[in-house]
Amino acid sequence: MLNEIVSPRNELSALRAYTPATEEAAVILSANESPFNLPKELVEKIKAELDDFRFNRYPDPGGRKLIGQISQAYGLEVESVILGNGSDELIEYLAIAYGGRGRSSLTFDPTFSMYEIISVANGLFMKNLKRTASFDIDIGEALDEIDKLEPTLIFICNPNNPTGNFIGLGDIERIVERASGLVVVDEAYGEFSDYSAASLMRGYKNLVVLRTFSKAFSLASLRIGYMLASKEVAENIQKVRLPFNTDAFSQLVARMVFENRDLFKDRIDEIKRSRDELFVELNKIPSVRPFPSKANFILFEVEGAAKVYRALVERGILVRDFGSDSLLKDFLRVTVGSSAENWAFLEALFEATSENAYV
Ligand code: PMP
Repeated sequence: MLNEIVSPRNELSALRAYTPATEEAAVILSANESPFNLPKELVEKIKAELDDFRFNRYPDPGGRKLIGQISQAYGLEVESVILGNGSDELIEYLAIAYGGRGRSSLTFDPTFSMYEIISVANGLFMKNLKRTASFDIDIGEALDEIDKLEPTLIFICNPNNPTGNFIGLGDIERIVERASGLVVVDEAYGEFSDYSAASLMRGYKNLVVLRTFSKAFSLASLRIGYMLASKEVAENIQKVRLPFNTDAFSQLVARMVFENRDLFKDRIDEIKRSRDELFVELNKIPSVRPFPSKANFILFEVEGAAKVYRALVERGILVRDFGSDSLLKDFLRVTVGSSAENWAFLEALFEATSENAYV
């Protein structure tokens, strides 16, 4: 054996691994999770199922029962729904099925970094168009780029992570009509906004919608999400889907959650109310500039963001720092937590920014 180990595919030389925050903190507001655990009554129902749970058997390969519930709720055929081990796995499947050398992806920066990592890893050329100062997509520029580049995949995060803003369905339709490639609308935070591109599914074969159980439905620990796609696209995704990509326990819990999704309505409303309250309070702090959000988090600009981030950690509060992103040098993102967490954060931020003003 030679001393040097074989190198990976060339595409990887341009990549850095995705790094979620790992610091310990009493108040975690860094990953856009729900502050609420599953409702107690659902936990009891899950426990009752465990006695007869067949741990020794492989799961239903596609998760047909859950797919049945989801397809019915959206008025789509079962073939149009595919489950993923988190919605991020579905992004990967899209890039595996539609990627390769000589093809390209388009997205609108700043946005969820996995679109780029997954695209590049799968040989796609990645084009990032910059959003405007208010983080909106310049639709005219997007349409021109679509004509020029003819991207195979266009990723639109809606509401957008990390900026929180939303593009209307009319604009999405203009992009879908113009594109020859797939338009992937990632609605990981869709439950916190008012509209879903799922309502456009019937009209367009090149529209793909991604949703997840990780955020509004309190299931980040289990890793389950879903894709809505035309039958033609879904058929190709099925060719690259791993046989048992979602496990039986996650399927079971997601089924219970989906069946009982009315139980989550008040919580989602509460998160939306708290988000709007948090925005008002952030606006009162002189050196802080929050951006309006339709998601369960708020991005804000603050002088000396790196220092403020550390001062928050020292006070037991973890938010998301974007220091390594050139477009977001002085920005932090806070997830909407419980009322107590939000106030603890605001108090700590107020202290941290007043300290900052005198150093
Ligand atoms: N899309 C967006 C925009 C996200 O922010 C996230 C999670 N951070 C995901 C997809 C992936 O979510 P999951 O894999 O938990 O479904």
